Amino acid sequence: MSTSFYQYSFQELQELCQSRQIPVASARLLFNWYYKKNRRDEYGRQELSQKARAFVYENFNFDLPQIDFIQQSQDLTVKFLFELHDGMKVESVLIPFQKKYTLCLSSQVGCGMNCAFCFTGKQGFTRHLKTEEIIGQFLQAKKWLTENRPEDDKILNIVFMGQGEPLHNFDSVKKATEIFLSQHGLSLAPHKITISTSGYLPGLKRWKEEMPNVNIALSLHSPFEAKRNELIPINRKFPLEEVLPIVAAIPQGEKRFATFEYLLIKNFNDSDEDAHATGKLLQDKKAFINLIPFNPFPESPFERPEKATVERFRDILKTYDVPVTIRTTKGDEILAACGQLNTKSKSSASSLEV
Ligand code: SF4
Repeated sequence: MSTSFYQYSFQELQELCQSRQIPVASARLLFNWYYKKNRRDEYGRQELSQKARAFVYENFNFDLPQIDFIQQSQDLTVKFLFELHDGMKVESVLIPFQKKYTLCLSSQVGCGMNCAFCFTGKQGFTRHLKTEEIIGQFLQAKKWLTENRPEDDKILNIVFMGQGEPLHNFDSVKKATEIFLSQHGLSLAPHKITISTSGYLPGLKRWKEEMPNVNIALSLHSPFEAKRNELIPINRKFPLEEVLPIVAAIPQGEKRFATFEYLLIKNFNDSDEDAHATGKLLQDKKAFINLIPFNPFPESPFERPEKATVERFRDILKTYDVPVTIRTTKGDEILAACGQLNTKSKSSASSLEV
């Protein structure tokens, strides 16, 4: 039975070639063709030796998740609904910024963390994505961009902020990250990749030793354990006081910061007291705060605060010398904004345009 070519890191592919007495240079040729050039045809394999070509034919498949639906919003955000080999579905979102894009990837079908503000959390956990299903979201989105918006088809950043808790699926996310970084393949720079976590401690404990040197983002949402328990149920098991020191110990590159995401919810965590406590908590850390006004989804119990409240919150944080920005919401009319992804809801599959 064949295995997916896209599940192998460059090093693994080299080792595999070596073990089968195939020229190790085949790994570089294959990575160049299928990642750097993002080609799907077999032409590139002609450069391989006869033995290597036979090996590829007999052992690999190049199947990728299929695009099921595409929705495009006025602001040029694109939401993809992908169908996986077993019929499961996940979403990815291309977020435009000055003719370039950030791609928000999913790491699981559904999610088991059940965060109160998140539409994906309402869906429950079905399964982890395999490395090739994570990589496949990127390759398909890139191909779609090249075919449909060739004048601005660059994906500059990757964020693991779609469906799923990435550190709950540590091995596949790690391997996909290694493939994104490989100089023989997609060749992304480490500071262009961000992995977001709700504070999944078992994964965080592995990060320092095992994860390539990419950015980390922690969903903070409140400096108070009680409020965080309400928003992120796993905080009861992995409280902030245990999570924070581990995040702080993850080495950041020069001029790089750990990002702390703070979802602002009206009359819940948007008071002056919340802002001061957050500032105090992060003022001595290499931290950057991303304020995200809540994006409503069907039947959500929360509301978005007024613009003035968001700005006041930001101004209080600035008095603690912590860098802070307010994230502009994109794609909310097609439920593609933060926390709005859900592959079981009717709304996420409506008004499609492929
Ligand atoms: S916010 Fe992230 S971790 Fe929490 S339920 Fe949603 S997808 Fe899962």
